[in-house]
Amino acid sequence: KAIAAPAQTDVKHALRNVKPQLLINGKFVDASSGKTFPTENPATKEELIQVAEGSAEDVEAAIDAARDAFDKGPWPRMTGRQRGEILFKLADLIEENIDEIAMLETLDNGKPFKYARTSDVPQAIEHLRYYAGFADKIHGKTIPCNGKMMAYTYREPLGVIGQIIPWNFPVLMMAWKIAPALAMGNTIVMKVAEQTPLSALRVGELALEAGLPAGCLNLVLGDGPVAGAALSKSKRIQKLAFTGSTEVGKIIMKQAAENIVPVTLELGGKSPNIICPDANIDEAVEGAHFALFFNMGQCCTAGSRTFVHADIYDEFVGKARERAMATNVGDPFGEGTELGPQVSKEQLDIILGYIEQGKKDGAKLECGGKIKDGTNGYFLEPTVFSNVTDEMVIARDEIFGPVQCILKWNTIEEVIERSNSNEYGLAAGVWTKNLNWMNSLSRGVQSGTIWVNCYDVFDAAVPFGGYKLSGIGREHGDEVLGHYTQVKSVYVPLEEPIG
Ligand code: ADP
Repeated sequence: KAIAAPAQTDVKHALRNVKPQLLINGKFVDASSGKTFPTENPATKEELIQVAEGSAEDVEAAIDAARDAFDKGPWPRMTGRQRGEILFKLADLIEENIDEIAMLETLDNGKPFKYARTSDVPQAIEHLRYYAGFADKIHGKTIPCNGKMMAYTYREPLGVIGQIIPWNFPVLMMAWKIAPALAMGNTIVMKVAEQTPLSALRVGELALEAGLPAGCLNLVLGDGPVAGAALSKSKRIQKLAFTGSTEVGKIIMKQAAENIVPVTLELGGKSPNIICPDANIDEAVEGAHFALFFNMGQCCTAGSRTFVHADIYDEFVGKARERAMATNVGDPFGEGTELGPQVSKEQLDIILGYIEQGKKDGAKLECGGKIKDGTNGYFLEPTVFSNVTDEMVIARDEIFGPVQCILKWNTIEEVIERSNSNEYGLAAGVWTKNLNWMNSLSRGVQSGTIWVNCYDVFDAAVPFGGYKLSGIGREHGDEVLGHYTQVKSVYVPLEEPIG
């Protein structure tokens, strides 16, 4: 779908409309220390705006507000249907402001506006509506007991939920986290990624406008090891949900374990994308390109090990190189832009380091490999490596950048074993028309999601999460609801047993 580039004046207006503060107890407030930090436009390296920098003290204040909202406020006491109505209203308000929120996403993260506008924000809206619809459909069971006794169960909210989100899909990650937690009647303290605070602030403001009571959604901005750690170390939260790197996931899990706070983690990946010899090669090249380069390679699900069957390997590599070289890299607000900048200098440098490592380890650089000429921000040329082998660092580590690594395989058993030899298990792709291969691969590959002849398809109703080091727990569908509720059993004596 064609999306026109927004006018500069509209972009400026979107930025001016953000309240760059912490959202605590229904009010936008400065950090208690008065400190601020800059948020940067990665396409130009210009400072966009100074935002409040939250500290441990601010996190405490946010937890106080969420605690009060849960213990004394209306939210958990409303009917599910009333909560659902407020979440539907929030979805409507985001839809009314969709251009503005997509602009903030592009300014802050660098992702092409047309994707923010047609994918990130619409999916966030869909997610809110999906869980708004669940809010009045949660109920317990009636259980016959052995003897003159019966029991029934309630599903009750947990209380104050700590949520920590990353910068790669800011508004979407926010929606994935807040929609089920709020629908179930919990209250939230969210630590937004320091690189991308803007869209969350606007959504927080719209949540108040939608009628979400004060204290139900608190937003703290600031550094991970300061504000994030204060949240994950807190004894006063009843659950912690995190999306980010496996490295930080490990730290967070340890911190939460001290207080027996249950944790769900959505972490990194090194997803195999397996191209069979019978696949439609053009579709597979395009699919594998999308699987890796979408969002500048900054996806936890990125198809970052492109496994191509030996019979079609050379042809595939040639076409993959052509496709990468034809990619339109540039101004994320430009109409035809497919790839914007990486989110930060730090990420850019990490990726450049991996590219050097790939060359050193003997992979063949087919194209790219450097900063895009004539650009100002953190733009990389789309990079393709062929002759990549399993032991190379670029085939093992999550690069989180626009670097496609193409490996060769011969038998189904071998490619399953090699796919599973990595410690991650988030997602995988399979490209074939052969049902037996499709079945063997989708059963054999250890990952939370398998995409057959497609990639990066997400539906609010379909569970998503990782095997192995890619995470704990599932988001989406009814699977996530167990993470945001707890079960209470009530026993009641009877005069006669019931069968
Ligand atoms: P990425 O590599 O995608 O930036 P991170 O795992 O570093 O992912 O960050 C994801 C989120 O975790 C961010 O909001 C970040 O601020 C937060 N974070 C980073 N370090 C810590 C920490 N030690 N404790 C709690 N949160 C953290």
